[in-house]
Amino acid sequence: MKAVTVIPRRPGSTTLRDVPEPSLDEVTGGRGVLVRILRVGLDGTDREIAAGEYGVAPEGSDFLIQGHESFGVVEQVGPNVAGFRPGDLVVARVRRAGTSLYDRIGMPDMTTDDEYFEHGISRVHGFLTERYVEDEQYLVRVPTGLREVGVLLEPTSVVEKGIAQAYELQRRLKVWRPRRAAVLGAGTIGLLATMALRVRGLDVVTIGLEEAPYLNSELAEAVGARYASTKQESLEQIAAPADGGRFDLVFECTGFSPLVFEGVRTLLAKNGVMVLSSVTGGERRVEVPADAINLDMVLGNKVMVGTVNANQEHFESGVRDLAVAQAEYPGWPQRLLTHPVNGLDEWEKAFELLGAPGVIKVFVEVAPIP
Ligand code: BGC
Ligand code: ZN
Repeated sequence: MKAVTVIPRRPGSTTLRDVPEPSLDEVTGGRGVLVRILRVGLDGTDREIAAGEYGVAPEGSDFLIQGHESFGVVEQVGPNVAGFRPGDLVVARVRRAGTSLYDRIGMPDMTTDDEYFEHGISRVHGFLTERYVEDEQYLVRVPTGLREVGVLLEPTSVVEKGIAQAYELQRRLKVWRPRRAAVLGAGTIGLLATMALRVRGLDVVTIGLEEAPYLNSELAEAVGARYASTKQESLEQIAAPADGGRFDLVFECTGFSPLVFEGVRTLLAKNGVMVLSSVTGGERRVEVPADAINLDMVLGNKVMVGTVNANQEHFESGVRDLAVAQAEYPGWPQRLLTHPVNGLDEWEKAFELLGAPGVIKVFVEVAPIP
């Protein structure tokens, strides 16, 4: 079968090659599930891997099959698979368990291991191919009513984990009643965070660089958020008392790390929580008003938390939020799927589109949805 592969750390080594078909007995205990891939989404992580900046091949292989945002249909199940049947629509979780305490209690997203296992990213092959076999414990069922947007579940799970971290931390307050949230960033993750916070009933301001109106600002407004451009308003102005004031929850996903320091100083309310989700592999440096930031955090009992990846419960809450969003704002999730690419053969086009203007989500249509 065909697969889009890369030699990690070798820029420009991505290519289409023939790889062996997977088999059910790759998973022990009869718990293997064979999945036919329907769609694969791409994001900045895939681009970094293609550029040789990130990624590790599986042991014993000199290449890595790319792609971690999957959507597929079950074709065959092992004798001891309890939860899935042929025909079920599924998304695979990205990270497999390693060896730390957290991995052993079902939270590989919280691993303290230095070597982690992520499909299409680190030490496990990804999904830009035709079929894969996975242990049923790592699969999440997608209701048929979400089949057109199932490929959005993985990025949604990342958002769900971030928001879950915020709520978990705020249990320290006994009576946390968040009203206002700011989402810093209006890309795929920013828009999905806007959606997830709106379905929780918060007032949301989605903050992007571009001036409105454009597709992303329209999508934020379509779920009842306010869109603000940093070309037109400073962060101070966005958090001005006359406009509702500072925010109980700030979700950062711009990929531009200096905004973390500016955002925490200008946007976060007393007792507020700021979630950091940008994976910034660069070496950007910036001068910050350290005393002011520290004082504000201390006197305001504020908290900042980093978040990566997602576990089973976050994929499941992602399914629920996508379903609620679909019910409340019909057609909204699908509008994020701006750039379909037809088949694995067109992989080069998919990578070219990543990060181009007007692109929200690029995805490869590997096979038609049944
Ligand atoms: C993926 C996560 C992963 C992270 C770090 C992201 O693009 O969506 O699942 O944990 O990259 O490798
Ligand atoms: Zn990703």
